[in-house]
Amino acid sequence: MNYKFTGGQLLLRRGGKFTAEPGTLYVADGTILAVQDSGAEAPDIEGEFETRDISGRLVMPGLINMHTHAYMTILRNYADDVDFGEWLFQRISPAEDRIRPGDAFTANLLAFAEMIMSGTTTYVDMHMFKGQSSGAADKAGMRAFIGRGLVGEDLYTDGLSRFQEALEEQAECGSSLIQFTLAPHAIYTCSPKFYEQVSAEAEKRGMLKQTHLSESRTEVSDCLKKYGKTPVEIMRDSGFLSGGAILAHCVHMEEGDIGILRDSGSTVVTNPASNAKLGNGFAPVAAFLKEGVNLCLGTDGTASNNTLNMFREMGLLSLIHKAVSEDPTALSAQQVLEAVTVNAAKALGMEDRLGILKEGAEADLIFIDLMRPNMFPDNDIVSSLVYSANGSEVSDVMIGGRFVMEDRILTTIDLEKVYDDSRSWER
Ligand SMILES: [Zn+2]
Repeated sequence: MNYKFTGGQLLLRRGGKFTAEPGTLYVADGTILAVQDSGAEAPDIEGEFETRDISGRLVMPGLINMHTHAYMTILRNYADDVDFGEWLFQRISPAEDRIRPGDAFTANLLAFAEMIMSGTTTYVDMHMFKGQSSGAADKAGMRAFIGRGLVGEDLYTDGLSRFQEALEEQAECGSSLIQFTLAPHAIYTCSPKFYEQVSAEAEKRGMLKQTHLSESRTEVSDCLKKYGKTPVEIMRDSGFLSGGAILAHCVHMEEGDIGILRDSGSTVVTNPASNAKLGNGFAPVAAFLKEGVNLCLGTDGTASNNTLNMFREMGLLSLIHKAVSEDPTALSAQQVLEAVTVNAAKALGMEDRLGILKEGAEADLIFIDLMRPNMFPDNDIVSSLVYSANGSEVSDVMIGGRFVMEDRILTTIDLEKVYDDSRSWER
């Protein structure tokens, strides 16, 4: 289906900034065919287009959640108000071992329903159930970058079965919207040699790499004790940062760590709600930006957030870091919006195709209802998106040219069935 969206506002990039302007957007065969701003003549385009009047609404690129564990929605609000060690090793990990693959499939669909309804069109996932994340993402029509969580001392002995699952999952998936990453879990569950082996495999296979890094103070001090290096130094020395990697958390940076991340061209994915909730602290986000590190945003899983709502996360990102740095100019609304769009696209190797409304980009679009009390008047739409929106303003969502939500109704997910199936979960 080809579409012409007219009568509303478009969120465009002008001179390195986001700006909202009246205009018309043409979508054909899953991509943006043309962007016509208000002063321009209609483009010379052939073919049939379904015209949709979007007056009172803003079209913008879909949000990109750069770190989550979608299957974990089964554990939403399951282990709250406990310390990080107890949370992970005594509550979450044992509960994960009891999750059945079918439960993980349903939990993924529940995650996607929440993501879509709050404007997320692409997500980066680390999971533990082969085929369930990709199968559910395919069913829901999500754009996904999926990695089977890997752990071990040696990729080809104790790490082999999971690594094989990761490769099989990639080979078996037929969706053009889904890509696969290599995802060693963290330095406290994988050895430096393991990171070296994964790095070599990623290079050989041309795959993106993701991991958890320097999330808690204990992780960093244990690592220094055990290896005499910071987790970031181990990543550098193992080759994991070569060509860039997607690094979730990066809360506790030692001297020199930020420079290493910047020089490697890696991406930091900050997860402010998860870090705050687990008492892990605040990542030095203002320093990352000052040093020129590519900064993105993630929700982490619902066991530690406890939502997948990127609008809530955007507000938190800006407010927390203004407060922590005692500087109201830290983390502008523009910078926050960049973290969830163009910066994420760059990290995923899809610059010019994701996170931006331009000719040739993927038609991953969200439509924002501006006729809401909390969005009115539109003195500054970028500020409205970051400081005033809560996600419920998302009226319609398109991924790869296909509507996955229209007028707040999901078209690919039977939400009642997801609720029914969720009731049988045993935790
Ligand atoms: Zn995580």
